[in-house]
Amino acid sequence: MKKVYTSENRFYVGNIRNLLEAQGIEVVLRNEHVSSAVGEIPVFDTWPELWVVKERDFPRAEQIVQQALSPAGAAPWRCKRCGEENDQAFEFCWQCQSDPGGILLT
Ligand SMILES: [Zn+2]
Repeated sequence: MKKVYTSENRFYVGNIRNLLEAQGIEVVLRNEHVSSAVGEIPVFDTWPELWVVKERDFPRAEQIVQQALSPAGAAPWRCKRCGEENDQAFEFCWQCQSDPGGILLT
């Protein structure tokens, strides 16, 4: 197994995991539920970590992560609900607050 991504933000890690799984890459999330154990452990050690199970999937996984994280390489997306064009950095439509799939979040 190889670690492909870690972040203090669980939401980002979960997002990346969804992306990788959608590509058929088997991943394991570690440190997902350790927040209750925080105390003696340095905060960094409790970040959720995403591990690629199969070594041969790793280069592809790394590429997907980099693409997901680089704003320069990513195209804007068009909201399915209201048609507004949103910067890739936005997790939801700034116009109508729906996600890229057109699901209203609020
Ligand atoms: Zn919208």
